[in-house]
Amino acid sequence: MISPVLPVYKKSELAFTHGQGPYLWSTKNKKYLDFASGVAVNCLGHAHEAMVKALTEQAKKYWHVGNGHHIPEQEHLAQTLVNKTFADTVFFTNSGVEAVECGLKMIRRYFHSRKQSHKYEVICCENAFHGRSLAAITAAGQKKLTDGFSPLPKGFVHVPFGDIEAIKNKISHKTAAIFLEPIQGEGGIVVGTQKYLQQVREIANEYNLLLFFDEIQCGVGRTGKLFYHEWANVIPDIMSIAKGIGGGFPMGACLATEKAAQGMTPGTHGSTCGGNPLACTIGQTIIDIISEEHFLKTVYNTGQYLYDALTLLIDKHPNVLKSVRGKGLMLGLQTHVPNSEFVKKLRANGLLTVIGGDNIVRILPPLTITKEHCDEAVDIISSCC
Ligand code: PLP
Repeated sequence: MISPVLPVYKKSELAFTHGQGPYLWSTKNKKYLDFASGVAVNCLGHAHEAMVKALTEQAKKYWHVGNGHHIPEQEHLAQTLVNKTFADTVFFTNSGVEAVECGLKMIRRYFHSRKQSHKYEVICCENAFHGRSLAAITAAGQKKLTDGFSPLPKGFVHVPFGDIEAIKNKISHKTAAIFLEPIQGEGGIVVGTQKYLQQVREIANEYNLLLFFDEIQCGVGRTGKLFYHEWANVIPDIMSIAKGIGGGFPMGACLATEKAAQGMTPGTHGSTCGGNPLACTIGQTIIDIISEEHFLKTVYNTGQYLYDALTLLIDKHPNVLKSVRGKGLMLGLQTHVPNSEFVKKLRANGLLTVIGGDNIVRILPPLTITKEHCDEAVDIISSCC
């Protein structure tokens, strides 16, 4: 008999009752160090005081009004994101995939508004992940995501991630945009180099293409900059964000320049609950905390500390651990043993992590962790080896 919850998720044996900071307690009252953050979501950890305050205070005021009205909390957060990024305008969503969908629709409307509707093709990367809508699975270029979902939408072509020549070879009179994750998350923490991102920007400029970055996993402070592309001094025309901006409250956003958004006129897009006052109050609280210079520096330094400690562990356990990669607190530990078995073993020993492609164990802790939490995680990993 089918379970009441549609059985599309592989479940662990665990359920939780509550959390505090980077810790979660299971229904069996066992304490876990959460270095998964629900896949890079709980950026301030569990039950963060400022988030609880923002949520409860806003809950007593009003939760929702339609987007046909002005929503001051939404306008405030949009202005904050505009002030802190390349963007001139923001569309709020309830999830990452909706932010991706908004960006993809924006690309079509941009060329439509320029009377160039024949330009609709988006160059995407193999091994990517952009969410689960039909357009997003098609953009991701992974057979395991699209299997059984044909016919797929037209207009997506794929190149290997990191390969500049392959992008150049795919450009035709139909090409509209280049779309990629600056760090591939689900694909196994594959870091786009600064040079690669700079070259992608140059190609986009040369051929008048829009550049769309998906920073749903690598953005919102995770690498020690507010957004990963800042490391490369490269700006996109469109960017999708989610996960960390809500810290566990369902929320995402599509950010864009005025030029890229020129086709998005009234009636072309929308969302019932996207950008409601409750979500935006929480998002505002998170962005205000995370975008502090000191906070971001600490994320980077803590990430470096953890990276170094994991590198030492590889020397200690060369038969189990193979390599470490990533930036800030978005790390991938490659194992010789099957990653799913290793993640299971870590979980049994009180450490939560996530699997990724290329036999990677993804380490995505709350951005608020300390070096002591890193030591605790490294001890658990070492004992599991
Ligand atoms: N894009 C990237 C890079 C992601 O990592 C994810 C989720 O893992 C998504 C898009 C989809 O986000 P959501 O599951 O919130 O729709």
